Amino acid sequence: MQKTDYIIELAGYKKEDFSVCLGCKICASVCTVNDLEMNINPQDLLVSLFLEQEVDRDHLLVRYCTNCYRCTSACPWRIKIPDVVRALRESLSVASPFEKAFKGSINIWGRVYEPYVFLMAIPFLLKEGYVKHMAKWTEYMSIHLPHKVKRLNRSNSLNNSHGLNGSNDLNGNKGRM
Ligand code: SF4
Ligand code: SF4
Repeated sequence: MQKTDYIIELAGYKKEDFSVCLGCKICASVCTVNDLEMNINPQDLLVSLFLEQEVDRDHLLVRYCTNCYRCTSACPWRIKIPDVVRALRESLSVASPFEKAFKGSINIWGRVYEPYVFLMAIPFLLKEGYVKHMAKWTEYMSIHLPHKVKRLNRSNSLNNSHGLNGSNDLNGNKGRM
């Protein structure tokens, strides 16, 4: 199996799935990384993989994607680009500081608590020269105190087919994730 096919499969897709991409660039218009004055079009990543072009660890999305799913929420097909980024990172053995911070936050509070994610990501942000974007990052932070979210038991989760926004993704699933 080609490496690109492996990455696409790891992300939960088949190569043909990406052919529905409209090239509308809505994903680029909402991408958090573009908010930080970088020039990223998440759709390019899908095209590269579709064309079986190698994507290396210096790709801006591999380095900076925050896995925020804003692109997925806005995409007409709900294509889960962050899942593709995660698969890429896994195949390239790149650890995401954002992902680690998100998981840590969910383990502690049962939700993503933005100030915690921000604090955990500070060493990475400083190292990568994000300092000039710090003011922008604060816009993503909630100022309310964290609280535990009541966890659904497994049977409720399985029975509940409705997601946060009730919309369909490319695989016909409801909701964002
Ligand atoms: S998940 Fe990644 S690609 Fe999608 S909007 Fe967020 S930072 Fe951009
Ligand atoms: S928003 Fe979706 S359909 Fe539009 S370019 Fe991005 S990935 Fe393709």
